[in-house]
Amino acid sequence: MSEPEIKGWCPGAHRPMMSGDGLVVRVRPFAAEISAQQTHELAELSVTYGNGFIDITNRANLQIRGVAQENYISLLERLTAAGLIDADETIETKRNIIITPFYKQNDLSHRLYQELVRRLPEFPSIPSKFGFAIDCGETCELQDSSADIRFETSSSGDILVRADGCETGVSVTEATAISTALELVQWFIAGKQNDIRRMAKHLQTFELPRKFTGSSPVTGSTMRQDGLLHVPLGQVSADDLRTLADIEGIKAIRITPWRALLTTDQAPAAHDLFPHTVGSPILDVSACAGQPFCPQASVETRNLATDLAGKWPGALHVSGCAKGCARPNATDVTLVGREGRFDLVRNGAPWDDTLYTNLSPTDLKTLDLD
Ligand code: SF4
Repeated sequence: MSEPEIKGWCPGAHRPMMSGDGLVVRVRPFAAEISAQQTHELAELSVTYGNGFIDITNRANLQIRGVAQENYISLLERLTAAGLIDADETIETKRNIIITPFYKQNDLSHRLYQELVRRLPEFPSIPSKFGFAIDCGETCELQDSSADIRFETSSSGDILVRADGCETGVSVTEATAISTALELVQWFIAGKQNDIRRMAKHLQTFELPRKFTGSSPVTGSTMRQDGLLHVPLGQVSADDLRTLADIEGIKAIRITPWRALLTTDQAPAAHDLFPHTVGSPILDVSACAGQPFCPQASVETRNLATDLAGKWPGALHVSGCAKGCARPNATDVTLVGREGRFDLVRNGAPWDDTLYTNLSPTDLKTLDLD
């Protein structure tokens, strides 16, 4: 099979991407948070215009999939009215920022986020995949999340601005943090080769000026789990989202880059709705919309993926066709729908060479893999 075209940009609400099942419209929640009311509206929009599910991306964004071209403008108007998207496409493209979901109102991470957003118009045009991570708590939570410039806590407790791909960054004050990041972006843009869009790749060719180095980020971080609501398959149904927003005490929901939502309000009922904890096999499974939601699919994906969770060692990806929308990279086991049956790829992407072909769901449930 041939590898599908890799797009060099991230979809947004103003710049949706066409996928096999229609347009993908991505919403970048402001400071990783949406109110209960906005959550209701998003659920409603996913039913009215999309496939009835909302994806949580690994940059803590939300996306509605399966949007017909003719419905796009109506969807955009409703997202705007709900206060869920930027007014301006240029700012939306630059506002590629992940903030630790554990921030507190007006703490250092939140203040840096607000200041960075305020000053985004000063930043030059940057590749759309180029992004920032704001992670200035006592521990760093976002070191595995995709970003090019990181705001972190240094081992001596200062604020650190660090270019991704370099082990050290520069210690700054709150007053100089954003200007330092801007300087770093300007250095990247001035020396960048056309096909390089990410800082770490750039640093493989160009040496970072010493003034941007010297201080290490805090080490020994452990991922916090308090309040996390793990979302199997990284897809939440409109019904579950509405139910969550209706739980007494929930005023807002935070989005994390770990296929999980977070409630900062005391709401035990939310954990009944999303009961999975780290180690649950279903959290190692990805699946696209599949039948009947995507016209490209000849197979159902989600129920099968749920049934097969934990059957074989490692991660599992069930893809309705070779496009691999849910996980366009290598996985321990990938099942690819084709003409109503499945091909199986070991340690590869959906378009890689197959180990088995023409398997039925029943075959898969009895198949042993070493
Ligand atoms: S991978 Fe899934 S969602 Fe994407 S086009 Fe194929 S069947 Fe549709």
